Amino acid sequence: MDKRSLALAQISAYSSAPLGHFIAGVPVAGQGEAFDVFEPATGAVLGQARDATQQELDAAVAAAKEAFPAWAATPANERRKILNRVADLIVARADEIAAVECLDAGQAWRFMSKAAIRGADNFRFFADRAPSAADGQALPSANHLNYTTRSPIGPVAVITPWNTPFMLSTWKIAPALAAGCTVVHKPAEWSPYSARMLVEIAHEAGLPAGVFNAVNGLGETTGKRLTEHPDIKAIAFVGESRTGSAIMKQGADTLKRVHFELGGKNPVIVFDDADLDAALDAAIFMIYSLNGQRCTSSSRLLVQSSIYDAFIAKAAERVKKLKVGDPFDPATEVGPLIHRRHFEKVSSYMGIATEDGARIAAGGAPVAGAEGYFFQPTLFADATQSMRVAQEEIFGPVLTAIPFEDEADAIAKANDVEYGLAGYLWTRDVGRALRVSEALEAGMVWVNSENVRHLPTPFGGVKASGIGRDGGDWSFDFYMETKNVALAKGTHKVPRLGV
Ligand code: NAD
Repeated sequence: MDKRSLALAQISAYSSAPLGHFIAGVPVAGQGEAFDVFEPATGAVLGQARDATQQELDAAVAAAKEAFPAWAATPANERRKILNRVADLIVARADEIAAVECLDAGQAWRFMSKAAIRGADNFRFFADRAPSAADGQALPSANHLNYTTRSPIGPVAVITPWNTPFMLSTWKIAPALAAGCTVVHKPAEWSPYSARMLVEIAHEAGLPAGVFNAVNGLGETTGKRLTEHPDIKAIAFVGESRTGSAIMKQGADTLKRVHFELGGKNPVIVFDDADLDAALDAAIFMIYSLNGQRCTSSSRLLVQSSIYDAFIAKAAERVKKLKVGDPFDPATEVGPLIHRRHFEKVSSYMGIATEDGARIAAGGAPVAGAEGYFFQPTLFADATQSMRVAQEEIFGPVLTAIPFEDEADAIAKANDVEYGLAGYLWTRDVGRALRVSEALEAGMVWVNSENVRHLPTPFGGVKASGIGRDGGDWSFDFYMETKNVALAKGTHKVPRLGV
């Protein structure tokens, strides 16, 4: 069966009626309003999903609350086994998952086949760490032995975006479950199908009912209700910075713990002493893969003025040669944008760029004759810091190039945006690599490399790019409460009052 048919066969199980929810271990059809889900490559309606009603949302949270004590008390080794089985089943169905992501998120097969496997890796990584999740520290003082332990915080909300929906969801849900939390997941309304596959796989792997629930719906209705629910103890959110800000307000009355992975306008800084061929490969890969819909994309290309013209000319040639097309074609490098609304947003930046005085060195228009939301990979050259294309997250296959003079100028320009997620730096000078890495306002810096994830390392941003870190033990810190116990050695004098 070809991959598109594989994806259609998979979602046909969900598309005879609007996709509902998965609550307390069973599918729930739902009574809420139905909304359309589109195929980005054709613009056609793939199916519908339902916005959860308040009652349905309450039922999902109640299921997570009820399941919490038993799941938290389940021996960590047992949690480990179940979550490793989830990973096994993801691997077994990796082709179907990847095909569904191509279909409803428009992402290219060459990246999605790896993203599905990464989802399994995420489960395996946190599964194997479950037995050490509760571990703490011994912090002895003169008269006391202090020791810390960790316990799961309770039912948590996981709210995810549409750019690599499956992989991103596993990145949040796996550590939450490994820690002993129960989960209510709300996937993005533009790409709901792979989330349903994940919750079904988790139950097939033996996850008890209620431990992991999934509700569909819009951000302003279902998402908002979930973040306001008093029985939800923490919110793990991945999405836009302004949504993060809204969620912080929504969760304020119930004092939610929040973890935000938000937007980015990440610089790739190329000094004239760098391996320029590798730098060009990495810069092109980091902005045009995943259709530019990637939080860690290198959307600003800062190039030293001594090599700027030659580097930009080469970059423009490469951008013009990128293979745009059917996400299912293994040769495709850039697929369509997710949705008409997003396509219109990305398109609007062409006029904004030229009005502000940037030069379009490649692309700059929708792909002629395409049915879906295809936009040409675009390179804006000769931009300045004050231009909107140098400041705002466009989240499409659009790169903004800006020249810089020296190290100080590079740092100043790199930091002169509201975001601070990732930074990429190319130089052969080790001292400069260390100095610039230290000065960059970013949660993550890659030197002479594209974004290569190592799961034990922290992932997250500063400034408007986020709050908190994922990865390694950082994930457990978010999903767990730390308790300190102080045991007196019997050597200190207790103060006596009222004697
Ligand atoms: P978005 O903020 O519009 O939506 C994300 C999720 O939040 C969706 O499920 C949506 O329904 C929900 N939502 C929207 N409003 C809500 C509200 N008021 N209350 C609760 N939930 C609400 O983001 P998007 O357009 O789906 O995704 C693109 C954004 O995600 C980009 O800004 C990108 O940089 C960011 N992103 C960040 C990371 C990271 O790790 N930093 C990773 C991927 C994507």
